[in-house]
Amino acid sequence: MNVEGMLKNHKLAQHIADASWSSFVTQLEYKAQKQGKTILRIGQFEPSTKICSECGYYNRDLTLSDRDWICPDCGIHHDRDINAAINIKKFALDRQNLIGI
Ligand SMILES: [Zn+2]
Repeated sequence: MNVEGMLKNHKLAQHIADASWSSFVTQLEYKAQKQGKTILRIGQFEPSTKICSECGYYNRDLTLSDRDWICPDCGIHHDRDINAAINIKKFALDRQNLIGI
């Protein structure tokens, strides 16, 4: 099977993606442990982009093409990725009972 054929095989492509992600996580865990850092995880389907990290408003109208948005509840302007990063940290810390959200 050539590379083009391999990419068209969705099952094979998924295995490659899974292996790459697994390899990335293994490397990340190794590096974190070496530097005394902690890796926090959240669920794959946590709504990290749609929740306002400031007030908790759930923006169900947010689409993938919306790169930034203004919370209709508290008025704060969000960069989609920064807001998601803040929420991911909150979710992970909340799960470990380190903070309450
Ligand atoms: Zn808000």
